[in-house]
Amino acid sequence: MNPPAPYNASFNQAEFNKVAPVMNAQSRLSTLSVGDLPVSRTCPQCHRSMATTVEKTNGVTVWSAAGILILLGCVCGCCLIPLCMDDLKDKTHYCPYCNTVVGRKKLFK
Ligand SMILES: [Zn+2]
Repeated sequence: MNPPAPYNASFNQAEFNKVAPVMNAQSRLSTLSVGDLPVSRTCPQCHRSMATTVEKTNGVTVWSAAGILILLGCVCGCCLIPLCMDDLKDKTHYCPYCNTVVGRKKLFK
């Protein structure tokens, strides 16, 4: 096993500045942790204080649960139950004024 790389004390600020502007506000904010319910935030795009609008979509978790139910023999419509369960759905938080994505919650990425 190789030892960890040594700490690079000579941090190159010029190199960092070349990379940093590539990140826009949306890519940084998508990593913010949000829950199932609307949260109060200041929008990074329009800088207004707001409560987020939450959109629920069927993601990997919902379709995986439906697939597992099919494999277990629930083929008479029971496999569609996960499509009705909000707890399994992915949540995307939007700014209600400018529709900027403020955050996302996914059970599995
Ligand atoms: Zn906004």
